[in-house]
Amino acid sequence: MAATATKAGVKMKTLKMLIDGQWVASARGTTREIINPATEEVIAEAYDASPLEVGQAVAAAKKAFDSGIWSGKAPVERAALLTKWAGLIEVNLAELAALESQNTGKPLKLARDGDIPFAVDNLRFFAAAARLPEGSGSGEYSTGYTSIIRREPVGVVALVAPWNYPLMMAAWKLGPALAAGNTCVIKPSELTPLTTLEIGRLAVEAGIPAGVINIVTGAEETGRALTSHPDVRMISFTGDTDTGKKIMGQAASTVKRLHFELGGKAPFVVFEDADLNAAVQGAVVASFVNCGQDCTAATRIYVEDGALKKFTEAFVKEASKMRVGDPSKPDTDMGPLICAEQRERVEGFLQRAKGAKVLLGGGRPRGQKKGYFFEPTIVTGVAQDSELVQKEVFGPLVVILPFKNEAEAIFLANDVPYGLAGSVWTKDVQKAFRMANGMRFGTVWINDHLPLTSEMPHGGFKQSGFGKDMSKYALEDYTIVKHVMVDTTGAARKGWHYTAFGDPA
Ligand code: NAD
Repeated sequence: MAATATKAGVKMKTLKMLIDGQWVASARGTTREIINPATEEVIAEAYDASPLEVGQAVAAAKKAFDSGIWSGKAPVERAALLTKWAGLIEVNLAELAALESQNTGKPLKLARDGDIPFAVDNLRFFAAAARLPEGSGSGEYSTGYTSIIRREPVGVVALVAPWNYPLMMAAWKLGPALAAGNTCVIKPSELTPLTTLEIGRLAVEAGIPAGVINIVTGAEETGRALTSHPDVRMISFTGDTDTGKKIMGQAASTVKRLHFELGGKAPFVVFEDADLNAAVQGAVVASFVNCGQDCTAATRIYVEDGALKKFTEAFVKEASKMRVGDPSKPDTDMGPLICAEQRERVEGFLQRAKGAKVLLGGGRPRGQKKGYFFEPTIVTGVAQDSELVQKEVFGPLVVILPFKNEAEAIFLANDVPYGLAGSVWTKDVQKAFRMANGMRFGTVWINDHLPLTSEMPHGGFKQSGFGKDMSKYALEDYTIVKHVMVDTTGAARKGWHYTAFGDPA
């Protein structure tokens, strides 16, 4: 898979791309350094695929789709290959977790005990789900005709992934796309291609046929070539809302189906009657998991007036215990941000926040000479319409704001352009359900924040996107409905007939 290149005197791997079952270099040879964000060291080099290689990858996926080598397999055969692949990922979990941690800076324990086992579970779920699809309607709806509904794969699907959970995002996309019988070209983030390439190698080893999974590496240019290619019939994109808007434009001229998991700005609503200890623990994890680079991270903590002081003090105290540092150490809770630009972006939000009172953190940890680290940061005193409350920061920066009653809590929670996820904390069951009904988010947790499960859907409302990851709903999203109508009585020979209400005179 890897060739060796020499750059600035350092020997490093130039990672080849997977196209039609072959590991290939980019013809124009443009490469990009892959950095460990905890050490700022170059750990590999990847190609920036040109439109030429993107075209080759799409052609390979189209050839594989048209040949029926994948969609034509019995579901049980596809399921067996996906299960084998999931098993190989599990067998290689330790190496994959180490690679993911090095490439993203996330604590090793998060990759090893969280992301990757969940990705394996997801692939196993979709392997089984490959055997589920059935036509829902079959019957006679017009005299003399039998109608049948078929669910078919869409064709070549472009999968464009972000950097925060590289392997898991690849699994969330490849699982349902492949289970449904599609063929794919996946482009990981230019910052984090390592584990996606590695699971590509394992897919080959599992026996998934050539051309079914193709992997191209590169940044915006590569993504643009892929998402505007005429032979791509569907785009599954996870990333920033503004990138999603661009991709919508790129997809428009060839009318592609879209599946978008975009940004988030999750509210975390704490009522006076909540179990405050549980809420504080939940807030620490939900705000700072993956260094806050999580689309469902708790970013706006609203606390009912009567509990504000007690909650805030306890939250600051607990968050200050977070161990920030070397992601490979077993007790590290939080690593660095993904890159220098992302850290500058977080710092910019804080510098521009008028009236903000910083209760914890607010800067780079002292003594940390290398790595894009930023302290767990808690802020209060900002207005609901401020940028810090309205825009996705994607870093360890959380805001606490007060509310007076249930109506105000729902208003404030919903008062952002996003709608991915949110939580409510209360012991009052009726209030919890009223809040869950009123909150305009794709996932609402009651007395928790973050957990997901392969059987249940995850996806946004509003500008957080549309389409669902995980669950049978994701499988449906990657299929297309076909109506087959059979003339069972020879009605076609009798002339005009186009509704169930008889022929026009
Ligand atoms: P990003 O939008 O910058 O990049 C995502 C991917 O899009 C990358 O692979 C990038 O190379 C590619 N890309 C960039 N411009 C493109 C273009 N014009 N055409 C095609 N592809 C293009 O996002 P990111 O910074 O990598 O990830 C962080 C974002 O992802 C956050 O906004 C976060 O909320 C979101 N996210 C959402 C979910 C969810 O489930 N809703 C999950 C994870 C991350």
